[in-house]
Amino acid sequence: MKKAIVVGSGIIGLSATYHLWRKGYQVVLIDRYHRPVGASIRNFGMIWPVGLTDGPMYERAMRTRSHWKTLSSEAGFWFRESGSLHIATTLAEAELLSQMTKAFGSERGYRLQSKREAERISPMVQTKDFVSAMYSPNEALIDSPMALDALSKFLEEQDAITFVRGAAVHEVRHPEVLTSKGTFAADQIWVATGMDFDAVRLQAPTDRPFVRVKLQMLRFQPSNQEFDMKVPLCGGTSLIHYASFQAFKEASNAVKEELKARDPRILQWGIHAMVSQNGRGQLVVGDTHEYDNSPDPFALEEQNALVLKYLKQFIKFPKMELQATWNGWYTKRTDGGTEWFEQIEPGVFYVNGIGGVGMTLGLGWLDELVENHA
Ligand SMILES: Cc1cc2nc3c(=O)[nH]c(=O)nc-3n(C[C@H](O)[C@H](O)[C@H](O)COP(=O)(O)OP(=O)(O)OC[C@H]3O[C@@H](n4cnc5c(N)ncnc54)[C@H](O)[C@@H]3O)c2cc1C
Repeated sequence: MKKAIVVGSGIIGLSATYHLWRKGYQVVLIDRYHRPVGASIRNFGMIWPVGLTDGPMYERAMRTRSHWKTLSSEAGFWFRESGSLHIATTLAEAELLSQMTKAFGSERGYRLQSKREAERISPMVQTKDFVSAMYSPNEALIDSPMALDALSKFLEEQDAITFVRGAAVHEVRHPEVLTSKGTFAADQIWVATGMDFDAVRLQAPTDRPFVRVKLQMLRFQPSNQEFDMKVPLCGGTSLIHYASFQAFKEASNAVKEELKARDPRILQWGIHAMVSQNGRGQLVVGDTHEYDNSPDPFALEEQNALVLKYLKQFIKFPKMELQATWNGWYTKRTDGGTEWFEQIEPGVFYVNGIGGVGMTLGLGWLDELVENHA
């Protein structure tokens, strides 16, 4: 049986492990922590094909969604086929939603919704400034901390998979992986260290076009434990954030100009405001984007307040209590590329730079890579 080592147990490392195992490899997965604590548990848990450009990226997102669905029943975690609702509060936003629906509606089931229809889709729709909305049936939700725990446990239960926890990897030179807990060896080595993209010494130069991105998030517990928002909600800031909407250049730029005029801090802090509900009924709210390789560790209350203020224009929050705030970090390419795959030396592969869509694309990306290279 061929042997593989995977470094990093976030969603990218777990995806590599899953696909290598399915291909018949014996896999050792190494992480410096004892449980997942990185970007992969700090996110919204949104599986979000609607944000991906048409063609291979959209197909990869739909394939990832299908992997999550299969794994949710195999590993036993919460997975909701929620769809998504995009709310326009200005004519420019409505125009962009209309162009998106015209282009892809019949193929993907996108529908423009009236105020009454949108209210029926989610009890959190605020109708005061409502202009129009677009519903997409294709998005899904996982509760990331629960899903990552369950997926790790499921993989660890397989005879051919071993987890080595609490071991920091400091160097990889094929066939060896040098860690704080000793040296391991394998035919193939896959390195997926997320925001710690420069932590491991590799047999290749280190100057990749990467930047760390810091995001701020909040979580609320509704007073009514039965509260169900039914579908994740987002508005104008998504229309300038996701590549799929940016593809409608003129309309997306018009939305950007409006947002800048409304409050320049929206663009300055990279505010991309969305709300989802996790499997425990909590509302997950975010986020902001700051780009810095030595990120500021402090969460700024002013940024969280602006996210909430922005959302309240089109979202009616239920009675709820703030339960947690946190930061998350991921690696993004600075040259416009969508992800980074590199063969460092024969048998050593480096996977990183997937940015803010790792939950939406990771399982589908790694299934292509493992198919082609393992
Ligand atoms: C706030 C926030 C919201 C987001 N929302 C979404 C969303 O809704 N949908 C979506 O698709 N994506 C979302 N993303 C993006 C997504 O979370 C990331 O793309 C994805 O989690 C990246 O996974 P990863 O495996 O590369 O990194 P991580 O999950 O950070 O995993 C990296 C792992 O490598 C380990 N490691 C690092 N260095 C070493 C070393 N030297 N030795 C051993 N182990 C090491 C770390 O301990 C860690 O476990 C969001 C991200 C954030 C931060």
